[in-house]
Amino acid sequence: MLRRIVAENGYDHRWSYAVVIVCSLLVSGATAFSAWVMAPMVNEIFYERRGDAIVWICAGFMGAFLVRGFAGYGQAIALATIGNNLVARYQKRIFDHLMKLGVDFFNDTRSGRLAAQMDENVGGIRDLLSLTLISITRDAVTLVGLVGLMVYQDPVLSLSSLLIGPPLIWAVVYITRRVRKINRESVLINSRLSGSVQEATQGIAIVKAFTMEDELARRIGIMADTAEQRSNKIARVSERLSPISDMLAGLAVTAVIAYSGYRALVLGQPPGAVFSFITALILAYDPARRLARMQVTMERALVNARMIYELLDLEPKQGDAPDAVEARITTGEVRFDNVTFGYSADMPVLRDLSFTAAAGKVTAIVGASGAGKSTLVALLQRFYDVDQGSIEVDGQDISKVTKRSLRQSIAYVSQAPYLFEGTIRDNIRYGRLSATDSEIEQAAKQAAADDFIRQQPQGYDTPVGENGATLSGGQRQRVSIARAIVRQAPILLLDEATSALDNEAEARVQEALTHVMEGRTTIVIAHRLSTVVNADRIIVLEEGRLAEEGTHATLMADPHSIYARFHRIQGKKGLGLVDDVKASQTSAQTPASRSRAKKTVRRSA
Ligand code: ADP
Repeated sequence: MLRRIVAENGYDHRWSYAVVIVCSLLVSGATAFSAWVMAPMVNEIFYERRGDAIVWICAGFMGAFLVRGFAGYGQAIALATIGNNLVARYQKRIFDHLMKLGVDFFNDTRSGRLAAQMDENVGGIRDLLSLTLISITRDAVTLVGLVGLMVYQDPVLSLSSLLIGPPLIWAVVYITRRVRKINRESVLINSRLSGSVQEATQGIAIVKAFTMEDELARRIGIMADTAEQRSNKIARVSERLSPISDMLAGLAVTAVIAYSGYRALVLGQPPGAVFSFITALILAYDPARRLARMQVTMERALVNARMIYELLDLEPKQGDAPDAVEARITTGEVRFDNVTFGYSADMPVLRDLSFTAAAGKVTAIVGASGAGKSTLVALLQRFYDVDQGSIEVDGQDISKVTKRSLRQSIAYVSQAPYLFEGTIRDNIRYGRLSATDSEIEQAAKQAAADDFIRQQPQGYDTPVGENGATLSGGQRQRVSIARAIVRQAPILLLDEATSALDNEAEARVQEALTHVMEGRTTIVIAHRLSTVVNADRIIVLEEGRLAEEGTHATLMADPHSIYARFHRIQGKKGLGLVDDVKASQTSAQTPASRSRAKKTVRRSA
């Protein structure tokens, strides 16, 4: 894991690494020097009572600490720079990657949790790198310097004190293994917790309307408690290292004092070397302990890094074919040719569906809820690949052109339009980034949105609330219609709103739509009678099959047609009602799968 992180980012940080290494060597050298100086200090000043030694020994000490201080500063800054840059890099990489993943990934992943996990994971990568770097450069190098000094001063004593190494390593391995699993659980529960908080605040209107506050608070409370327990458990297990390493260090120091005391008293050796040795031993304890602990702390960082790579390694499905070409779409005639498709292999949603949406004409798709209307629209945008058959636009198979060029020739207005963070102008401009301000205002006029936009506090530059919370449903729709107009795409996909807009709002939205449809190949999932009646062609879907096809007049001519039955059931109330009547008869579909289906389309807006 670490090798991969360094391989992917190391080259760009080479100068910072160089600074870290040089500073570490300086820190380590200065530390070893300050331990070494103990020997001449004791021997020259206290044992031999030489006054002149005081000056250079003091100067040496002072110098060593100055070097240590400045080198430590340089090292910390270089490490922080690398760490912060890594965070930014991985944030960008993950977001780029997320944008490449297919809609299916987002159907199965909760967005709040994803954001929270990303946050936590990226921090993990930084910790991983800085922990390893600090340990290897500062602690390991310091340790090597100090142990070298110990061996130089007294090989026999060194050997005996290094005996504590093996049991310490054993303890580290044991503890690391125990915390690994708890760490992953802890990261997951924390991201679930923050994800749920985010979702609860996004859905605050529903939360209040259904008085869900207490229940949600209870659930979040349970998660918070579990997170607390996990963290406590991690602390309990990983802190076991402290008593073990302290005990072992105590043993080593005691043994050294006993043995060297014996040598000084019985054999009369000068004490300088022993002082220097003990100083080195005590100084070595801290980096040694940190190195041991690093393994345990790094476990958590590793868990996070692994989770990031699990995400980054997800292959985007339905990538462009290797020989994909740019689509050249002018009139935008759409042809479905024997298309069969299912979200899972055994459950086809569209079956052997063939129809043509003529260039520049309006084709209305009518059918009960769950019939496959939204799926059809998703397939045309290549959110999923067809299982059999093909979809052609202007005679080009959409699986053989780049997705980008295909989608650039499509403008999409969804049932529940999504507005992004930014101003109203930004939101319209997402239709086509190169649109000028006057094109944007022109589009807003056509979408009957100009008036209300100008009445906003800052006009076109008014920021929209989260998902357009500061605008009414009809206004949001008109902004999204303006976005579709600005796109200047030959194909328009329209999922008509079923939500009850009031009559005036509906009339204005309708008027806006008439403008967009002009001269475009329009495929509309129709819920309104007026749309269907005026459509050039009507496609009636039943359980994913083409049941009937024709114009309003030809379909009504047969009183037994499904289409005619729709009209009899719902009178003049709009086809949305038919959906509901039919839905209650189609028992195969669960509410969850319905909401999933809607989500597919809404997210893509
Ligand atoms: P309609 O738009 O006509 O209401 P849909 O195209 O949304 O119908 O759905 C057709 C069928 O496909 C439904 O049975 C629905 O449950 C299923 N479905 C839709 N989206 C998904 C999805 N992302 N994953 C699995 N099944 C889905």
